[in-house]
Amino acid sequence: MTIHIIKKTLGLVLLSMSTLQLAAQDIIAHQASADKQMKDISTIKTHKILNDANLNNPAINVYTNWDNSSVHSVAGAVPSNFKIDLRGFCMPTPSRVVTSKFGYRWHRQHQGLDIKVYVGDTIRAAFDGKIRVVRYDANGYGNYVVIRHPNGLETLYGHMSKTLVNPDQIVKAGQVIGLGGNTGRSTGSHLHFETRLAGKAIDPALLFDFPNQDIVSDYYIYRGERIQKEARTSTSALASVANDQSNLERALETKRPTTNARRNTASRKVAQNKSKSKSKSYTVKKGDTLYSIAKKNGMSVKDLCKKNGIKQSAKLKAGQTLKCN
Ligand SMILES: [Zn+2]
Repeated sequence: MTIHIIKKTLGLVLLSMSTLQLAAQDIIAHQASADKQMKDISTIKTHKILNDANLNNPAINVYTNWDNSSVHSVAGAVPSNFKIDLRGFCMPTPSRVVTSKFGYRWHRQHQGLDIKVYVGDTIRAAFDGKIRVVRYDANGYGNYVVIRHPNGLETLYGHMSKTLVNPDQIVKAGQVIGLGGNTGRSTGSHLHFETRLAGKAIDPALLFDFPNQDIVSDYYIYRGERIQKEARTSTSALASVANDQSNLERALETKRPTTNARRNTASRKVAQNKSKSKSKSYTVKKGDTLYSIAKKNGMSVKDLCKKNGIKQSAKLKAGQTLKCN
């Protein structure tokens, strides 16, 4: 009985000791991180407030208006040297297959990337943002969504079978906005994905690497100036290509006479061979002179005389035959 009580008491003491120990550890752990936690919470709060403000009025430094009707925001206000933060991204689809690139296609400009998706596939918002347009365009984008993001970009998702968001709705990166489809001007189900800055289409492949399911880099610096400069550079590059071409042409020209000369030498040799085997003869007509005959046959008077064994002072008679080249 006594032993049993002792055992029980000891057990209780041990149990309470270990419980106390654990509780103490918890308290210490909590105390240790209390400051950090407080800081984190306040930071998160500040971030959240800033983020919400950004999301309610995304990229006010780029856009002056907000409307739910126009597909593309008014161009012309495209800022030069604009840094686009891509870090909070989410790939709109896990598909890695790009079926059509950005650029000139079928006699018109293709303003986005086509990514292979199937009808019903999940399409997600590329960044946090606010839904600006949700519409259906039978002759174009089909069911599409335009989202404006705090980083300055607007993203467009076209040809969807279904849209799952409403205008003015705030979405987070990765939130489902619609389902893959084949609506509008589309042959075969795919996602038409556009990235625009103040209405100006930027090749999405410069920002998103679909085959590797990643962003190209943390930031994309849009430089309107640089693009113009690049255009100039490419013009001068074209000019240099043209220069290269003219240099090449010049080189060819300098080479051509050589070729011609070679050909001439060859033909001359043939002519010489011919002349060796068979000399042409010329029948002297009235009024001919040694000079006129030599000229007609492309030889000098001296050669003509030598060939015919006559002197330069020799008188010619009509009907007389002379050996020529
Ligand atoms: Zn497309």
